[in-house]
Amino acid sequence: MNNYQVNKDGYYGEFGGAYIPEILHRCVEELRESYLKVLENDDFKKEFTQLLHDYVGRPSPLYLAKRLSEKYNCTIYLKREDLNHTGAHKINNALGQVLLARRMGKKRIIAETGAGQHGVATATVCALMNMECIIYMGKTDVERQHINVERMKMLGATVCPVTSGNMTLKDATNEAIRDWCCHPADTYYIIGSTVGPHPYPDMVARLQSVISEEIKKQLFAHEGRDYPDYLIACVGGGSNAAGTIFHYLNDERVKIILAEAGGKGINSGMSAATIHLGRTGIIHGSKTLLMQNEDGQIIEPYSISAGLDYPGVGPLHSNLASKHRATVFAINDDEAINAGYELTRLEGIIPALESAHALGALSKIKFRPSDIVVLTVSGRGDKDIETYLNNKPDSYK
Ligand SMILES: *Cc1c(COP(=O)(O)O)cnc(C)c1O
Repeated sequence: MNNYQVNKDGYYGEFGGAYIPEILHRCVEELRESYLKVLENDDFKKEFTQLLHDYVGRPSPLYLAKRLSEKYNCTIYLKREDLNHTGAHKINNALGQVLLARRMGKKRIIAETGAGQHGVATATVCALMNMECIIYMGKTDVERQHINVERMKMLGATVCPVTSGNMTLKDATNEAIRDWCCHPADTYYIIGSTVGPHPYPDMVARLQSVISEEIKKQLFAHEGRDYPDYLIACVGGGSNAAGTIFHYLNDERVKIILAEAGGKGINSGMSAATIHLGRTGIIHGSKTLLMQNEDGQIIEPYSISAGLDYPGVGPLHSNLASKHRATVFAINDDEAINAGYELTRLEGIIPALESAHALGALSKIKFRPSDIVVLTVSGRGDKDIETYLNNKPDSYK
């Protein structure tokens, strides 16, 4: 049987590993030695589970979307990560990593953020746990995502605008890594997705795997079987998708559908469809598919959705795609916007633009009436209202 989980060296097939500067070697090694011990420790599990329940609001509902099902002529359940505290799945990971950092004796939390969602989730948990919190964010994003910057500050975090490169996520990540190099002893770096050097992709996938753990139980209660025919999720770095598929990775009865950001089209020069367009390279400590030119320089990604606007993708997903375990669709901006409006009008749920890419995949698949589909709504759309309004499709005017 194929095994799509990480191997003991930190690889998923040919992807993954830890390609890091010498100065970070001890930090990453310390993390690698600690993470499984802590995550499997009873005291950690008890505290994490309790907070997921009482603070985050888990389990998130598995909602049978009747009108959406009718439209696509199959049975569609929505996994409602949009109903979590702070409005997305990212809090699952931020909470888990702060609990781990405390157990490793770290006093100072740093993180990078693009749209600000991971920054807000991290600042939220740091407020809860009374930890110092420093968030690196590209200056361009600081200006574009003003409300999230104010949320982080209100929560007590220090937001550091980054002025190198394009002043966006990739540059913020470089700056966070630089900080970590300067303060290796007391600082814990929380990565917000299934990216970065091993053990981050596996650790983040495990912390998000509560999503598929719940799907199993909830689907059994609804349907009398604990697996769907299809799982669908959007992919930026890959954490909500990893959580959605974690317990089904090696169950080949379940088809895995991933939706990445096509932007204005994969051949338009304005895209973030890394799996379609990327070649193997190294970004932020991981060997993975990467949008790069002939000289290996990173190509700036573009997507209408800030959370999917990343030139790399998690090594787990690179492997699933290259082994054809997952089918990957590039969903363009306009397709995502349309799908977002469709869900809003059919079910009264305004999805995050990222999640709208997963919904955009529905029209690309030929379902049978007996098919059971679980689609993860990774976040709520409140943050995206302006973009939805400025790009309103004619059919909804
Ligand atoms: C950040 C974000 C994503 C993309 O990140 P993944 O790690 O790929 O899940 C998707 N949806 C929402 C709502 C987000 O905030």
